[in-house]
Formats: sequence, structure tokens, C-alpha cells
Amino acid sequence: MTPPSAGRIVLATHNPHKVEEFQAIVAGARPDLEVVAYDGPEPVEDGVTFAENALIKARAASIHTGLPALADDSGICVDVLGGSPGVFSAYWAGHAKDAGANLALLLDQLSDVADPHRAAQFVSTIALVIPGGSEQTVAGVWPGRLATEAVGAGGFGYDPVFIPDGQDRAAERTVAEWSAAEKNAASHRARAFAALLPLLAAV
Ligand code: IMP
Repeated sequence: MTPPSAGRIVLATHNPHKVEEFQAIVAGARPDLEVVAYDGPEPVEDGVTFAENALIKARAASIHTGLPALADDSGICVDVLGGSPGVFSAYWAGHAKDAGANLALLLDQLSDVADPHRAAQFVSTIALVIPGGSEQTVAGVWPGRLATEAVGAGGFGYDPVFIPDGQDRAAERTVAEWSAAEKNAASHRARAFAALLPLLAAV
């Protein structure tokens, strides 16, 4: 078990893309806080909301390390699918967690859905658990719509099919065509992190 340290916070994710995004976001906002990746046992994520799953992960990391812990649970919520894939985003096409298969299935399901009805949101809920202290969650929502085919090579997961709102319609790009810096400034995780910042003062 790692001894508690005032300047460190553990991030409960094994996804290297998320570790990078969190480190970049934290470095910009709280350069005094060192983000360390959690490498302990993974709990079963049996919550049915983003908040429940984020809390399950943050609690496990905090208990195992003795450090304050952050965890996010995130996914893509498609309006015409009633908010699905939602908490099932990582394994929408099965427990193999094949990102390409997930994305292909989602595109196939929406193949007859016209552009005005393809609204979707990336959602990130971040849980902060302080040992012996509080548990809190905050959420960030990034609105947009689904493309009709995968475009771009950057990012991960559903990035190649997500077109964020607010772009010049003639020059719209999927998130997979955005730079990491552009995504870090606008993403659902960035938005959730902005909501988390006031709470980090207590860390
Ligand atoms: P989590 O790791 O349990 O939060 O699962 C999140 C899943 O949602 C990922 O496996 C992706 O499929 C999807 N997802 C979450 N955030 C993003 C993102 O920023 N870009 C693309 N896909 C994402």
C-alpha cells in the first residue's frame, strides 16, 4: 500500500488514453498535483449509472492506495436509442470490448436514421473519493451528433463517429480529426473536470 501524500492523487483507470487526457487536464489546472495511475485490482463495475460506476472505481482505488482517488465513467448516449449505449458503451457489441465492433454496430443500428435525428452526447461522470472523507460526483456533457461513417485516425472509441456541436457546418470534423489539445479543451471529461475543480481544493 502506498503511503498517503498531500500532492498525489490516484486515477482509477487502466485506459492509457484517459490517463493522458487526465494528466494534461490536471497539469493545466492543478500543476501541483501529481496524477498517478492506479495499478491495483479492478472492482466489478455493476452500477447502472455513470455515477455509480465512477464511485465503485474511485472507492476501490482509494481503499487500495490510501490516496485521494479520481475515477471517471463515461460513454456515448444517443437520443434516438433512448440514451444507449450509455453505461454499456465499452461493450456495446459484446464483452470482447472491441472498439471497432462497437462503432460498426452503432453505425449499423442508425443506418436509416437521417441527420436531424442523429443527436448524441458524450457524457463523463467523475467521482472524487477522499480517504476517510467525502464522496462526490460531477458530470460533463459534450453535445453533438453521429456521423454516417467513421472518419479520422485520432482519439479512441467512438471519436471517429462523433461530430461535436458548435463547428462551422461547412468544415465539420469528427473528434478523431481533432488534435488532442482541441479535444482536451472541449471534451466531456474537460467539462466534468471544470465542475470538479472547486472540489479539488479539498484534496
Ligand atoms: P469506461 O472506460 O468504462 O468509462 O467506458 C467508456 C467507453 O465509452 C469507452 O470504452 C468508449 O467506448 C466510450 N468513450 C468514453 N469516452 C470517450 C471518448 O472520449 N471518445 C470516444 N469514446 C469514448
